[in-house]
Amino acid sequence: MDYSSKISRQVAAVPRSGIRDFFELVQGKDDVISLGVGEPDFDTPWHIREAAIYSLEKGQTSYTSNLGLVQLRREIASYVEDFFHVSYAAESEVLVTVGVSEAIDLALRALLNPGDEVIYHEPCYVSYSPSIVMAHGVARGVATRKEDGFSLKASELAKAITPRSRVLMLNFPTNPTGATASREDLEEIATLCIQHDLIVLSDEIYSELRYEEEAHVSIASLPGMRERTILLHGFSKAFAMTGFRLGYACAPEPIIEAMMKIHQYSMLCAPITSQVAAIEALQNGAAAVEHMRQDYQRRRDYMVARLNAMGMECHSPGGAFYVFPEIPDCGMTSKEFALNLLDSTNVAAVPGDAFGESGEGYLRCCYATSLDDIKVAMDKMEAFIESVT
Ligand code: PLP
Repeated sequence: MDYSSKISRQVAAVPRSGIRDFFELVQGKDDVISLGVGEPDFDTPWHIREAAIYSLEKGQTSYTSNLGLVQLRREIASYVEDFFHVSYAAESEVLVTVGVSEAIDLALRALLNPGDEVIYHEPCYVSYSPSIVMAHGVARGVATRKEDGFSLKASELAKAITPRSRVLMLNFPTNPTGATASREDLEEIATLCIQHDLIVLSDEIYSELRYEEEAHVSIASLPGMRERTILLHGFSKAFAMTGFRLGYACAPEPIIEAMMKIHQYSMLCAPITSQVAAIEALQNGAAAVEHMRQDYQRRRDYMVARLNAMGMECHSPGGAFYVFPEIPDCGMTSKEFALNLLDSTNVAAVPGDAFGESGEGYLRCCYATSLDDIKVAMDKMEAFIESVT
């Protein structure tokens, strides 16, 4: 059968994730040090796992409300108010989802009509452009620059806005660059969003993982922005809970209601075991998050210093757990560089073009792996660079 005519045009138009393709190559090799997948190397803190185990022992194995357990939504509303300084009603303005991944999909499907444009800053998380296309939208990437620390400048955003623009996707701290946005930059971006009546989809999944003095600012907390922002957050990164698959969206009730309809028919609810674990994470997880944050900071400082010393120029990223160095002049594309590095040293890092065209010429190195492994990887990378430049 010719299956190509059976697959939807939207889905056929979307490429497979560059990260996954690259890591299929890694699978076949032994003794690889991976600076690849953006996943904490820490186990989920024990008290959170224990809460999940205990919930199973008690027989908590049912569906929950579509929106999520009310106790969890209350904890989320209180955490978001403390951390992001925005208040949401637990009963109607918080939706618990299967990771931030599901929340992105729900938000785009709830907001877009075919042909609506969604602007996002690039390099960006691999799912953004495909999620927009699969929701029948038009993806408009705005390239950010190394000179700006890969932060989005309002002047660049202004050039990308058209009468069809409906949504702006923001992700600070950013995967893959670790970029952060200053309050001033966000204020200028917010002014444009208000002027052009854009809804902002703000993916703040790395917001606890900040390493500079300046605290994280959510665009939702700026004047006039709460009513036009969907704030997305989750447990995967800061709480090291990727496998629990739990995230949430906070937004005005009509938007949550629209997202909830899709969630209700496609997912029904997020898993109850994960929801119980998330309550424990929010109630008692702060110390573990801070411990992991400090550890990431040490690794970041080490990796940035080593990369710059070996000629892989990079800024010191203010957040997340990625460094995004420039590949030195050696006549290789980022894909060729990453493949050769893997072949000759068994060190895996992701070619920058996996995160959009503007990532060409860069490599994403994730430091959510032990300092010992990072040290070995940096030694090997240094020797590789000496051999190719
Ligand atoms: N958003 C960003 C920017 C990410 O980097 C990731 C995962 O790497 C996600 C969303 C997906 O997170 P979750 O595990 O909550 O689905």
